[in-house]
Amino acid sequence: MGTVATLSAEGEEAQAAVTESIHRLQELEAMVSFEEPDSDLNRLVEAAGKDFVPLHPEIYALLAVSQEYSRQSDGAWDVTAAPLVELWGIGTAKARVPAPQEIEQAKALVGWPKLLLRSDDNSAMLTEPGMKLDLGGIMKGLAIDEARKIYERHGITRGLINLGTSSLYAVGSRADGSPWRIGLRRPEGDDPKDYWGVVNLREAALSTSGDYERFFTADGERYHHIIDPRAGYPAKTNLTAVTIVVQSGETAGMRSDLLSTLVFVMGAEAGEKFLRQLPYSVQGVLLLENGRQVVIGDLPLEMKSRP
Ligand code: ADP
Ligand code: MG
Repeated sequence: MGTVATLSAEGEEAQAAVTESIHRLQELEAMVSFEEPDSDLNRLVEAAGKDFVPLHPEIYALLAVSQEYSRQSDGAWDVTAAPLVELWGIGTAKARVPAPQEIEQAKALVGWPKLLLRSDDNSAMLTEPGMKLDLGGIMKGLAIDEARKIYERHGITRGLINLGTSSLYAVGSRADGSPWRIGLRRPEGDDPKDYWGVVNLREAALSTSGDYERFFTADGERYHHIIDPRAGYPAKTNLTAVTIVVQSGETAGMRSDLLSTLVFVMGAEAGEKFLRQLPYSVQGVLLLENGRQVVIGDLPLEMKSRP
């Protein structure tokens, strides 16, 4: 998943919970890895334009959630954006500004309605040859949800499941009963320990998407790694970072992960509206380019300084 996982747990079965979770993360990664010839994603790519492919139930469930949000967001969130993500190559050595014609070609292979799901046998199909999926905005969320279930089975009441700090789950609270304290990084700073605020978190998933971790600059213009699949370009958003908190629930990790990306693409106004009409309550904070912050719900946020 291109990140470093840090798991901590407290309780009699803490070691077993962490060990099992790590195995589970590796198992999940293998299901979606492009390096594994038989991974679900490679089989989907191979059968694109031809056949439905049976998937692991957890990957099917992930795609079902993903499609629901693609529909609701009118494609702002879309895991079929892979050809565009790869074309731009942001965060890799191949990052460059593609020619408009290349973008058009890639866009022809993008679009959530071209990912078909069949629930009877947990299978899926990409309707056009050349299509591909990119789960970079949701997979860490699934990993968190799965680790959380393992913690539960081992009776862990305290811990942190941290997938590279941009997505995490705070299990229970700290030993003294106080909430976990999660630092929100200053977008412009180089120092990852430079926090502008702290979220007090108890039994919830938190995810942050921003334009400052993976980007490149060409001709004075900054291109970041979150793509607007409809435009074919890095999302022209008025946001620099979005943090979303989802309280408990089996898919809390997945939803917080995808929602932070989705809201980032939508921009502050539409993103806030989207969050407010969800059938469950989310909390969060949107950082605008102009320095303003929009707090969603009763996010327990402590400001340290200006973001
Ligand atoms: P990070 O992985 O840096 O924590 P995100 O969770 O926001 O950040 O995920 C960004 C990743 O999601 C991108 O690197 C890419 O793989 C994928 N992605 C980019 N744009 C979209 C989009 N519009 N819909 C779905 N996935 C996207
Ligand atoms: Mg995300």
